[in-house]
Amino acid sequence: MANFMRCKACGFVTDQGKIKDVCPACGVPAKMFEPYTHPVSLNRRKILDLHTHPVMVHFPQAFALTLFLLSFFAFFVPQALLETLSSTIKVLSALLPFFLVAAIATGLMDGKLRFRKVTTPLLKNKIILSLVFFITAIVLAALALFAQLLTFPIHLLYFLLTIIASLCGALLGLIGGKLLDAKFPG
Ligand SMILES: [Zn+2]
Repeated sequence: MANFMRCKACGFVTDQGKIKDVCPACGVPAKMFEPYTHPVSLNRRKILDLHTHPVMVHFPQAFALTLFLLSFFAFFVPQALLETLSSTIKVLSALLPFFLVAAIATGLMDGKLRFRKVTTPLLKNKIILSLVFFITAIVLAALALFAQLLTFPIHLLYFLLTIIASLCGALLGLIGGKLLDAKFPG
């Protein structure tokens, strides 16, 4: 079994064998490390330490923000460029719901592993925000694929919805960031 050590300065936890001269996270001398008993079981930790959810969420967040920027630029670009812009928006809009499904699925798995249940107040907030994000993404995809996207008023509606999607992504990230270090012992 690995012997865990924790940096007294920054709280970074690592295997004893991996510590060289300084803390890999904050750079203080290695003597600042103290023995640490990990409260989370090895099996759960193995999966949690892959950070699949925090990694996966970057895709829908980036897509939503990109779609916000592209549909914003589309208000100003010359007519000749609209065709290209519209194609890009269509592709990204069609992909967004799929990446969201992956993000939500890994999020539920992460929540279940971390806290044993996904009905805690903060996780409930995350689930509600995810659903708003997902419904918005479905409408964005439908507008991009089946409507006259860059014509008024569809373009304006699309643009406003990308703001909602981006806000959902940002708020989810803020709550998620707070939860990252929290794990239910056992
Ligand atoms: Zn440190």
